[in-house]
Amino acid sequence: MKRALLLLAACGGSSSPAMPDAAPDSSAGSGERTLDNCATSIDPSVPAPYATLFRCVTMTATATDLVITTRGLPPHRSYYYGASSPNYEAWDARGGAYHANPNTLSEHDATFTIPLAPTSRNLTITSALVDGVVNTSGSEYRGGPVGVALDSTLLFDALAAPGDDIAQEQYTFDEWNAHPAPSGEYHYHENSPGPLAVLARAGTTGVEAYGLMCDGTFVLGCTELDGSAPDQSNLDAQNGHTGTVGPLTARYHVHLCPSWTAHPRPYTPEIQAYSTCNVR
Ligand SMILES: [Zn+2]
Ligand SMILES: [Zn+2]
Repeated sequence: MKRALLLLAACGGSSSPAMPDAAPDSSAGSGERTLDNCATSIDPSVPAPYATLFRCVTMTATATDLVITTRGLPPHRSYYYGASSPNYEAWDARGGAYHANPNTLSEHDATFTIPLAPTSRNLTITSALVDGVVNTSGSEYRGGPVGVALDSTLLFDALAAPGDDIAQEQYTFDEWNAHPAPSGEYHYHENSPGPLAVLARAGTTGVEAYGLMCDGTFVLGCTELDGSAPDQSNLDAQNGHTGTVGPLTARYHVHLCPSWTAHPRPYTPEIQAYSTCNVR
């Protein structure tokens, strides 16, 4: 609760950040990476709902797994691309609170092999587990890339590096709520307009979805994947519950929705609900 309120204060009370300059084809500079020109390859073997959700990734499927490969290069402009990049834009301090970290984003290829029918660890995800502090539970996601967003950007979990606080680190986020790690891996920890731009480009309205964690946990926004209003009565401490996700039944997923009065959580999950996280 405390952190969510800090975020709301940082965002001037708005739960839905305005869409930054997405640079559609008509205004994209030479060599600029955009949602329209990034390479997207979805094999016919990929089932719903995955097949139509993502862009700028390569996806295939086996009988048991979904395999997603990303280059980790966001299809939008960011200060963190560095001044020599066609995707560079100047830093926006947004009233002075935001300051860039010293890192520059770089390509980080990552392949996620995600079970189509993940096995639950049968955890009871309480606030004692979801404490916002790294290395306090063996049930946390491991550090680094642990998921992929609909726009191919890497997802990290809700935890800052040891000794840091994500509620402070968020002031190094660019206008897409992202920043690069020291190793150059550009990533989201929170809700972002980037994945929502993928849905908009596909003509999907009234739905908020952000991505997929390595274990099969979906990361949704203030709606279910069919656009309906989530039942907030049974959310766990990371705004997760098990229910229908598109054609999938009984699938664990979390909701990133800073505007919910009783559950104003913007963060990706901290606790890994399903048994495997295979990233290479
Ligand atoms: Zn981070
Ligand atoms: Zn839900």
